Amino acid sequence: MVGDIRIGFSMHPRWAGDEGLEAFILPLRRSGLSLLEFELDDQQDDWPAFEPLMEAAFQMGLGLSFHAPYRSPHSLVGFAGRERSHIQGDYRPVLEIAETWARKSPACRTLVIHAAVAPEPASREALVADTLAFLAWVLEEYPNLQLALENNHPARQGEVKPGVELKDVLSMLAALGTPRLGACWDLGHDYLRQKGGAPTRKWLSKVVHIHVHDVDETGEDHFPLIFGRVPYERWLEAWKAQGGGGGVVLELKGKLLQNWSPARVEEALETSISRIKEVLL
Ligand SMILES: [Zn+2]
Repeated sequence: MVGDIRIGFSMHPRWAGDEGLEAFILPLRRSGLSLLEFELDDQQDDWPAFEPLMEAAFQMGLGLSFHAPYRSPHSLVGFAGRERSHIQGDYRPVLEIAETWARKSPACRTLVIHAAVAPEPASREALVADTLAFLAWVLEEYPNLQLALENNHPARQGEVKPGVELKDVLSMLAALGTPRLGACWDLGHDYLRQKGGAPTRKWLSKVVHIHVHDVDETGEDHFPLIFGRVPYERWLEAWKAQGGGGGVVLELKGKLLQNWSPARVEEALETSISRIKEVLL
């Protein structure tokens, strides 16, 4: 979906709850929402509700974007070696879902992917090789998808994690050298990595998709834009000024808001979407 900018929200059936999708989405659409992102993890709660929700969102005129599974038991480790066919079998059913939507509409063609991660003492080079081999396979097997390799959350203790530094994401993109593979800039992850430094022009020119969220005082991310820590205004403006296009998705963890009243959640979501819209549209 490079070209136009669409503001999105990371959707899970729980958000729609008993009220249904239309009631949940209406105030967000008024605030500027035109895209929903779905994590294609077939092991997560409520997975059977995901595809009907995608269909309902599309019928309402929304674009769709997708996030490849990355949580255990899903993993890319070993793709460049003996795990290749096993991982292909694991990912094929969900990647087919994204490809089918991408064939239907260019507003549904972006798939976000994280680089392979493993516990120490894994080899960083081997994880990069696994990631590149996986990306090459997806590019070939699913020709309608626009891939977006995400800058990862900084490594936690004991993790070997390529793709945290933006230059490492750029070098993986360069290794495959196709416009069908760009970057997903996760602003919260980038803030955790390096606070508020300005991105390079090179990076901005490769960004085809963005995840926006805020970070609390303990470093927990995926909150609505309530703390003012992540400099999303400055960063989104820089991206837009350089001709950036694609989805800009408010990516939240609902679990963090479990103890909030429904009214407070609704207000935080609407305000976050409106702020993104003020900067971009
Ligand atoms: Zn993200």
